[in-house]
Amino acid sequence: MTQNRRRIAVLTSGGDAPGMNAAIRSVVLCGTALNFEVIGVERGYDGLMRGSFVEFSQRVLDENLHRGGTLLRSARSHEFMTREGRAQAIEHLRRAGIEGLVVIGGDGSFAGALALDREGMPTVGIPGTIDNDIACTDVSIGFDTALNTVIHAVNQLRDTAYSHDRVYVVEVMGRNSGYIALYSGLAVGAEAILIPEIPEDLDNLVAKIDQVHKAGKAHSIVIVAEGVGGVPSSTRRYEESAGFRVAQYISEHSHHETRVTILGHLQRGGSPTASDRLLASRLGEAAVRLLARGVSGRMVGIQQNRVVDVPLEDAIGKPKPIDREYYELASLLTAVV
Ligand code: ATP
Repeated sequence: MTQNRRRIAVLTSGGDAPGMNAAIRSVVLCGTALNFEVIGVERGYDGLMRGSFVEFSQRVLDENLHRGGTLLRSARSHEFMTREGRAQAIEHLRRAGIEGLVVIGGDGSFAGALALDREGMPTVGIPGTIDNDIACTDVSIGFDTALNTVIHAVNQLRDTAYSHDRVYVVEVMGRNSGYIALYSGLAVGAEAILIPEIPEDLDNLVAKIDQVHKAGKAHSIVIVAEGVGGVPSSTRRYEESAGFRVAQYISEHSHHETRVTILGHLQRGGSPTASDRLLASRLGEAAVRLLARGVSGRMVGIQQNRVVDVPLEDAIGKPKPIDREYYELASLLTAVV
């Protein structure tokens, strides 16, 4: 370690998202350029409470840039949600001479980051979640890659849907947020898009699919966010899934043959797109620049393609409203939204 270098650490927490590795790389390389020594924490807050620190090599950072997932791995920790758990985490950081922390994750991870900051460990957040459900940033790391994964899958389904005159119901991720469904539905030209933010009207859906078919198009793609209908995705059975319920309703109330595809965790993986790599690289730099200026308790994000930073409390626990402009566009380009 260079003697006058201050130490900071970086971790990934909550659900992994493609582009997290690009964010880690940027934090480490930009941090080093700003005269920090940057240490990794394995397995999120769980690793932080165990003092599970790792050093980075340029080779590992470069070799993971094009990979999905997170080279630091991720975890969820109930223990960290207690004050005692966080005190243990801060103790490990202090003992390792670490003076600041960058947390890459979603809403829950930021609640943890804010608590750490308030309890004396300067912390900055970078939004990384495929759901794009974090307030105060137009986009979060992983969203663009997940969209492209959905588009690729639906392209394949269209081929078979066309050949068999079927209705294909495709369930995409989004427990509370319709961003993936709305944006991917627009991008694939779905006949219908159902999102948690708008109450579902399945009779209207069936009527519109009938219209589409009467107008001469013999197959339809219906994109459904997993949160439609409100059954928590971690505990639900297949029959309770939004995709299955919607497909069953269509089958029972029309003559259309339906099929369900639940894309599930496929959407989490894959090589990050150019857009996610660039976003992650920009936000990684912005995060370490804040720490270098002695600023913390903030989340870096993107608004109108400019890097911004906002208080962490502004980004936490607020629903991010669905993008009105995209929603209105979908109502023009899609039979049902
Ligand atoms: P995703 O959106 O992908 O689920 P996330 O960051 O929201 O990501 P969570 O599981 O909600 O994922 O949170 C990750 C971790 O953050 C939790 O396991 C917990 O350790 C910590 N955390 C969550 N909420 C709080 C809180 N209110 N206070 C302290 N720590 C929290």
